[in-house]
Amino acid sequence: MAELKTAPATVASKAHDPSPAVMGTYARLNILFERGEGSWLITEDGERYLDFGSGVAVNALGHAHPHLIDALKAQAEKLWHTSNLYRISQQERLAERLCAATFADKVFFCNSGAEACEGVIKATRRYHYVNGDPQRWRIITFEGAFHGRTLATLSAAGNPKHLEGFGVPADGFDHLPFADHDAVEAAISPETAAIMIEPVQGEGGVRIIPPQCLQGLRELCDRHGLLLILDEVQTGVGRTGTFFAHEQSGITPDLMAVAKGVGGGFPLGAILASEEAASGLQPGTHGSTFGGNPLAMAVGNAVLDIVLQPEFLEDVCRKSGLLRQRLAEIEDQFSDLVAEVRIAGLLCGLKLQDDVAPSDLIAAAADERLLTVGAGDNVVRILPSLNVSEDEISDGLARLQRSFSRLRENTL
Ligand SMILES: *Cc1c(COP(=O)(O)O)cnc(C)c1O
Repeated sequence: MAELKTAPATVASKAHDPSPAVMGTYARLNILFERGEGSWLITEDGERYLDFGSGVAVNALGHAHPHLIDALKAQAEKLWHTSNLYRISQQERLAERLCAATFADKVFFCNSGAEACEGVIKATRRYHYVNGDPQRWRIITFEGAFHGRTLATLSAAGNPKHLEGFGVPADGFDHLPFADHDAVEAAISPETAAIMIEPVQGEGGVRIIPPQCLQGLRELCDRHGLLLILDEVQTGVGRTGTFFAHEQSGITPDLMAVAKGVGGGFPLGAILASEEAASGLQPGTHGSTFGGNPLAMAVGNAVLDIVLQPEFLEDVCRKSGLLRQRLAEIEDQFSDLVAEVRIAGLLCGLKLQDDVAPSDLIAAAADERLLTVGAGDNVVRILPSLNVSEDEISDGLARLQRSFSRLRENTL
């Protein structure tokens, strides 16, 4: 470490080497952006990258959206933070709008997806506790899931790679194989409180849960007195072409975790709940100092102003169709590299052949000034902003095509 500190730091190396002061929890690409405009990210040298990663499905409306900037600026000049010891008007407004647009009767605001997932887990356990069933506290979850990086959410997902070295995982989660309905029914015990699932596994590799599976889980929950928890942190707020992904299966959950796109880039998470599922959370049972703070709420409301406009989601579906068509062409053209295309709205995954590493495609795409994101199951995600233009989709797909050509040259 001492060597690092005393190494001669030229201006150039200072500008280009990642700082050793930042903890090394991410294997970052060595690209440094200075600003963003819509679907574009621009480096200090003025190089423009087409952003088909959207900060991992967060920048739902691209970068520097004028309506979001106005909302944040206006709020910044009035009030930043008061805590939840007092009423917050923007919070009441956003909660009411989320309830009006979804199954929910109650909303709790937090700051991230992991916190939202922790919250739905706590709400579940308290629900059964206040209903005289305190022994019901275990939650059924699925292989390939991702619910965040806190100790409980890591245990909920049960990914051995993420849990390694962090001691004994938190108890209370029963992990089942992906897409095995019979296994779910067999796993339900008198201690089971809920089933928790992502309608599309995002980090798990854009693995789509078919509508009839979600309907089957809803039915199992009803029959056994369990809560159905959906983690829509990645799939929510228009990403899959409907406001929330579960709408496409005609079911509603009892509890839902929301984050990522709902803040459009401002840290914001939420728990949405039916009146009944929220009944365990009385004053003092859960909290967050920053959650629902006026700045986050102003931006959340501004995001909804746009996403809830009548044509917005239709537009997402149309662009999804275009993307599907173009990605199918790429799949044909590069069948030696691409194994499968998975699409839910503008949440797209390219499953690569076993001998092709996602990191190689991501690097080749970055060389073409196209940003993509890796995922599990040997998948690279394509996550344009929801307001991406059709020209930008065409441009991005041409870049993707050239990236695959590069990759093929390198592997030959
Ligand atoms: C990203 C994600 C989370 C975690 O969100 P953070 O904001 O990183 O804590 C949880 N669940 C799903 C489905 C996600 O995609």
